[in-house]
Amino acid sequence: MKKRTDDSDSGNRLSPRERAAAAFSALALPTRVSILSIVSLVEASRNTHISITTSPLLNGTEICGLWLPRENDDLIFHAETDSEHHRQQIVCHELSHMILRHDEVAGPTLHGVLLEADGPVSAFGRSDFRDEFELAAEALADLLTSAIRTSTKEPEGFEGVFG
Ligand SMILES: [Zn+2]
Repeated sequence: MKKRTDDSDSGNRLSPRERAAAAFSALALPTRVSILSIVSLVEASRNTHISITTSPLLNGTEICGLWLPRENDDLIFHAETDSEHHRQQIVCHELSHMILRHDEVAGPTLHGVLLEADGPVSAFGRSDFRDEFELAAEALADLLTSAIRTSTKEPEGFEGVFG
């Protein structure tokens, strides 16, 4: 996948929160959504397969989630957590980066991922909230998780995403 280097919509600046709200509306989610249905939707829109797994490498670091875009699929790593809500928030955050197509937008703080590095090194990690991509992804993740929460009392089927 080639990264675009032009910034053709620079005349149309939206705040990260406005971007997130616009992307959320564009998703046109049904009234009942789950983490699984959102994953399927993003898979369909990116024409990819998404795998979600825990990474012990993330435990105890400031990064609690990581997205590795690859040529034929996307990997989401998240730190091990006992909190279903926390896990949902991390996964939705990484999905939000995909929905917002942050891998296609070249930016000074977005250089993709060094897969061969000793540890996870990525601008997609959740540690730097100053970055406007992070703000937009976090705002969209909030919208997604609240949509999930209002859809269902219990987080059904989340385990099915793993493996
Ligand atoms: Zn992020």
